[in-house]
Order: sequence, then structure tokens, then C-alpha cells
Amino acid sequence: MGKRKEQLNLLCDIGDLAALLSESVDIEIFLQRTVSLVARNLSADVCSVYLYDEQADELVLRATMGLNSEAVGKVRMKLGEGLVGITLERLQPICEGTATMSPYYRYFEEAHEDRFQSFLAVPIRRGVEKIGVLVVQKEQKNYFDEYDVMTLRATASQLAGAMENAKLLIGMNQPKDKKSDRPAEYKGVRFIKGKSASGGYAYADAAVMRESHGGLMTGYDESENGRTFTLKDFFVALEKTTQQLESLQAKLSQRLPESASLIFTAHFMILKDAKFIDKIVGLIEKGTPAPEAIRKVAGDYMRIFLSSPHAYIREKGNDMEDLAGRILKNLLYASADEIGNERGRIIIALDLFPSEMLKLATEDVKGIILVSGGVTSHVAILSRSMKIPLIIAEHRDLLEIPDGAPIILDADIGNIFICPSEKIVEQYETRNRTSQSVAPLKSRLADETMTRDGKRVRLMANINLLSELTLARDLNAEGIGLYRTEFPFLIRNNFPSEQEQYVVYKQLFEVMKGKEVTLRTLDVGGDKVLAYMDSGAEANPELGLRSIRFSLRHLEIFEQQIRAILRAAPPEQALRIMFPMISSVDEFREARQMVVESMDDLESEGLPHHPKPSVGTMLEIPSVVEIMNELAKEADFFSIGTNDFVQYMLAVDRTNEKVANYYRPFHPSILRAMERMALWANTWGKEISVCGEMAHEPEYIPFLLGIGIRTLSVDPQFLLGVQERISKLKMSDAEKYAKELLGQPTVKGAWNVLRRYPE
Ligand code: PEP
Ligand code: MG
Repeated sequence: MGKRKEQLNLLCDIGDLAALLSESVDIEIFLQRTVSLVARNLSADVCSVYLYDEQADELVLRATMGLNSEAVGKVRMKLGEGLVGITLERLQPICEGTATMSPYYRYFEEAHEDRFQSFLAVPIRRGVEKIGVLVVQKEQKNYFDEYDVMTLRATASQLAGAMENAKLLIGMNQPKDKKSDRPAEYKGVRFIKGKSASGGYAYADAAVMRESHGGLMTGYDESENGRTFTLKDFFVALEKTTQQLESLQAKLSQRLPESASLIFTAHFMILKDAKFIDKIVGLIEKGTPAPEAIRKVAGDYMRIFLSSPHAYIREKGNDMEDLAGRILKNLLYASADEIGNERGRIIIALDLFPSEMLKLATEDVKGIILVSGGVTSHVAILSRSMKIPLIIAEHRDLLEIPDGAPIILDADIGNIFICPSEKIVEQYETRNRTSQSVAPLKSRLADETMTRDGKRVRLMANINLLSELTLARDLNAEGIGLYRTEFPFLIRNNFPSEQEQYVVYKQLFEVMKGKEVTLRTLDVGGDKVLAYMDSGAEANPELGLRSIRFSLRHLEIFEQQIRAILRAAPPEQALRIMFPMISSVDEFREARQMVVESMDDLESEGLPHHPKPSVGTMLEIPSVVEIMNELAKEADFFSIGTNDFVQYMLAVDRTNEKVANYYRPFHPSILRAMERMALWANTWGKEISVCGEMAHEPEYIPFLLGIGIRTLSVDPQFLLGVQERISKLKMSDAEKYAKELLGQPTVKGAWNVLRRYPE
């Protein structure tokens, strides 16, 4: 009540101020007094006025109370740029409870405003004329309410006339050198806010992949070197290329043991292909310069490969381009011992396939920025597994950044600084040093995860790559709740055989000795494309022949996988086989039949295998909600894949940044459907876990426990945090909280309850 009264006072005082301006008080002082008064009356930490300069098409900070006063006249933004720019462009107020999380948030180094979380801006306009923006900010989150919006709006409309005058006068007094405040060397955008898809920090030069991942074959200008290359030079380059590939392969096998020896198979084959080498040698002997000879022969091969209707042959075209680029580089730059423009860089790309991401990992890239994609896409999941910081920012300007430009990637909060100033670099480097020197307080989970009121929760690990297994074991995870078996398939150039899969799966059981292991059968399709598989282009791959549909269509591939799993699991260890994307009881039965038949076959072949696997299913497709009663009678266990469940319930592509705002796990239909599924599973005494991203997000954990979920499976790096979160919760509170959430009929209502989740 007291707050509202102060706001009414504010309106009166502003009226007085407007009168003061018409009596021609100094403009700067007028603006300064205005912002001080508004800040005081709204109890804001900051109040600023931005005025619109039509000629430069920019909003300019003209007065501030609370931000760095030196930023006045320096902070400028285009219409539509940042929260302030958007306010004027849309002519609508913007109220943000946590401004730095907004996709429109734009960081201005000069202003020192990143600690202010609550943000409220209203446009200042006179009829159709755009005059400027009035902004208040507060450190505390979620501070401003609708009364503040109303008050600030009224204030802005009362001030509009005075501001218009101020704007015109300032405009007349200032020389129009709109860029004079900006650093000369790089003219593009300096800060971009994106979404964090994989946390971490990196400071390195940019490598921009404007087109495909290849491109090594072009762009070397041998004339600069001013030398002619002999046949001997060519053979030296060839030898060097072989050695480099061998050492890359060795590193890769350490980091990605499931890849076996396969990523560069095609390269080695081509290097051994006498016809390929002879053709180049022939041309060089006839007087063609060596670089041109390599380009010509490789180009001929590529044309043939790339025109093939078969995906796996087109893949060879890319391999040829990559290989020829490496040979050329070794020839032209004899001293270069590193191949790959990406090594040690921050990659900026429009999009990447999971397989490309894996190759980049072998180049030790420091971070990745993608201009498209969603944070629950598989490239994002993979980057977390590989501990590569990744930000997704739908901002095409990123592709215009010059190669080699220094970049700071703060992927913990999604900030990208391009050509950062020394001050920012120093700030980040200091922060980074400090955080590295702080040892984690705890490095191992307590044996049992308990709520504060003594209720038991099982905490399992999600594994994508074998390299994550040791972390899961060392952290003392209770088992593997989800092993995404598709990743070994994605890394390779062809389908792994039963034996090759057996070798990979065996490691899961060996490292997690004595503990339960859940293997999910192949979940390819959607955004997990097998480069070597000719499945034909699909208009809607997320709704296409993916996942269990793929396995049931290609029974021989499915059978090999089930056999490899059954053989790899020691009889004394708990084995769970889980099917992805089951949509009906019929489909579940059909898939389970493969397990039964494979066990019979292995038995009759006399091959040792697990005698009693549990067979369960992911819950990811909305059609299962209505048949949960029946499904729960048949399946041994369930796991809700919230990443896909949300996608399909809400018809929102999880990989499409453009619709990310529609991807709302807190939608009442999602919450209620999850509760119903949990209820049916618990009624039949079947375990139901959650293994999608929701399982590790602190705000959802009370809800999940509250609806009866007692098992969570999360990426290993989240295990400690999740256990800690659970240990502070009381199950009785979680249940009450879940009820409240489930009672919300609207998305907004659910969001408001979620924002107040129990600490
Ligand atoms: C999910 O959909 O929530 C899930 C765990 O599976 P994936 O992310 O691999 O699709
Ligand atoms: Mg899924």
C-alpha cells in the first residue's frame, strides 16, 4: 500500500519537473533530476533515460542514476537491440525478473549493469514519434510488479513532451559522430546473449565454419610461398599426413574408446589407394604444379562421390575433401605441425551433426557457439558429455565475425564477448583462476540419497560416452539409469557389428561392477542422423522413422544390438533393457519379443548371456498416457524422457531455437500427464524414473518427488548437486507443492508457483 502511495507522489513531482524544463533549466540537470526522482520513488537501484537519435538510428543513454555515469553518451544501441532497443521498437513495456537470462539482454561494458536483475522499461513516445525509453533496474530478482509498470508508463507519458524538447536540444548541441565512442578495430556486435547448452568458460580465437565442416581444400594461396614443389615434397607431405592422422586417431581412441579405429578409416584407405597417388604423381611428372595436381585428382573423386544418391558414398566425398586439405596444408606449410583450423579455437557454426562435434573434440576445441539448435538437442547433450562449453545463440551476426577474433565464452550463463576489452578479459581470467583454485567440497555421493524427512531416492547416471563412466563410478552413482547406445553408432562410418557393440557394452558392466545398468536401444533419427544410413530425407525427421520405429523396421540391426547387450551383461549384475519412443502396448510387445527370441537363440547357440533382464520403456510420446494402466502391467520399469515428452506434448521442436519460448516443461498438461503416469506405474509396483533434463533442474525436483518419482537419472556432473538438493527437501513439502502446481490451470499460474519452488 505504502509503495502505491509513493508512486502517486511521483506523478505529481514529475509534473513539476516538466514545468521546470519549459522554464528552460539546463537539459542535463533536468534529465539527471528526473532519473534520481524516479529511482527514489520506485525504490529502484537504477533509473536511466535513453533518447532516440533518428539520424544515427540509435538509442543513446542520456542520464542515469545507478549506472556508471561515464557511460552517458557512450552506451548506444540500435532499435530492437537489447531489452531497451526492443522496448522502443515494439512500443511496449518490458518487465523482466531476471534480465540477464533474457535472450534479448545485451551487456554494455561501460554501464556496469549486469548485477541488476529486475528490469522494467517503458517507451517514451509522442503520438507516433519515438522519443526514448525510461528504465528502472534493481539488484533483487522479480522486484517490479504491474503497479510499477503502470506508474512508469504514466510517468513516461507525462514526461514525453519535456523529453522531446530535451532530445531535440541535445541533438542540436552534439556533433553527429555516432561511432566515435567505439573501438575502431572491430565494428561489429561486441556482446551476444545466448543460451547455455553446456557450461564452462573459454577464451580463445574464433574459427568460423561458414559452410560445411570441410573447406580445407580451398583458401591456401601457394603463390605467396613463391616456391615450386617437387615430387619429393609431395611424398613428404603424404608421409606427414599419415603420421598426423595416426596420432589423431590414437588420441581419439583414448577420448572416445567406442569409436574403435574407425573415424579415419576412409582417410587411411585413400592414402593407401595406389590409383589416387599415381594419378597425382603422373600429373606432377607432366609438369602440373603439385598443389594443382592434388586439387585436380581429389576434385575428380569428390565430384563422383558427392553426386552419388547414397549417403555413405557422399560421406566419402567429405572425407576426401578433408584428406586433400590436410595433404595440401602439409605441402604448402611445411613447418605447420598442427592440422585443422579449429585446434584450440572457439568454433562458430550454423549447426553441427553429432559426428562433426565428435571430430571437433579431437581437435581440442575450446568451445562452440551454434547459431541454431536447442539446448536439449543431442549436439548439446554430447557437448556436455565431452565437457565442451557450448552456447546456442540465434544471431546470424556471429557468422560474420572474422576468423581469429578473440572471444570470451561464459557458457555458464550464455554470455559471448567478441573482441573483449582488456578489462573484461582480466575480470574473467581472474574469476576463472579463482574458481579453479577452489577445490570442490565434496567429491563423492553419500551411499544413499535421502530427503530431510528420511525418504529414499535412487540417484543414477546418464551416460552418453564411455569416457563418462569413470566419473559416474568415482562419484558413487547407484547405477546407470540411461546409456544412450546410439552414440557409438553416430561416431562411426558404418554400423558396428554385434561383436563391436559387445566390446563397448562390456565396459559399462565392468566399470559399474555390481551395479544396475540400463541400456536404451538404438534411438537414431530426429536430430541424430547416421551419416552412412540411406534412410531418405524426411520432411519431419522428429516425427519420422526414428528410434524404436527404426529398430523394428531394421530387425537385423535390432537383433544384433539385443544380442550384444545380453552377451555383455554378467548374469549376476542387474541388466535393464529400455526401448525409446514406445507409443503403444503393441509396439512394446513387439520390441520385447526380440529380447525373448534373442535369448532363445543365444541359449541354443550355447553362448553365455544374461538370464533375466528387466525390460522396460521410455515414456516420451503422449499416446502412452492414456494406456499407462495396461502398459504398467506388462513393462518391468519406466523412465520418463522429458526432453521428448515436452517436445511431443506441446508440438515444439526441441532443436529449434526459434520456438524455444514454447518449450515449457511447466505446462499444466505436462505436469498432470506426468503425475498420471507416475500414479499408474506406482499402482502396479513398477519403478518409474525421470531421465530427461528436468531430472537435474533444481526447480523441478520437488515436483518430481511430490508426484511419486523415486528414481532420477542425470548426467554425472549434476549428481552431487541433485543429491544435495534432495537432502534439503521434505517429502511432505514436496507433495504439497506438487499438488499446488497440479492445481494450476494455466501456464502462467504454473510458472508463478514454480518460481517460488521450496528452497
Ligand atoms: C528424453 O527424451 O528425455 C531422453 C532422455 O532421451 P533423449 O534426450 O536421448 O531423446
Ligand atoms: Mg528421447
